[in-house]
Amino acid sequence: MARVYIPADIERRVRHAARNRCGYCSSPQQLVMGQLEIEHLIPLAQGGTSDESNLWLACSICNGHKSEKIAALDPETLEVVRLFNPRLDKWQTNFQWSEDGLRIVGKTPIGRATVIALHLDDDPIALAVRSLWVEVGWFPPKD
Ligand SMILES: [Zn+2]
Repeated sequence: MARVYIPADIERRVRHAARNRCGYCSSPQQLVMGQLEIEHLIPLAQGGTSDESNLWLACSICNGHKSEKIAALDPETLEVVRLFNPRLDKWQTNFQWSEDGLRIVGKTPIGRATVIALHLDDDPIALAVRSLWVEVGWFPPKD
């Protein structure tokens, strides 16, 4: 998708509100080589806008998997539900870390559907990097 111009003051506010980490996998900016991306919660292709209320922060892995998705199948209830919205939904309500700290586990229909859609438990690059963060005690986040 073509890059959309986001005014610098809006970008700064979104990064601050997101506490400078990915809204899905919680990767903090200071541990990621590239800049975390400003993402559209409802993708432009799905009718979303570039209003601040529709913007959040995501790492390139999560944003790439999310792409233009807005909903996915919950494997437990077999219902299609909307994806997790880090602006509206509480992370801890919908997800938890696996005991080894490597994988995100869905706790609710939204959480489970989002884990699958965004590969929060099986992206090979994320798992490889996260395993090193866990080894040195930087991950998973405590909050
Ligand atoms: Zn992420």
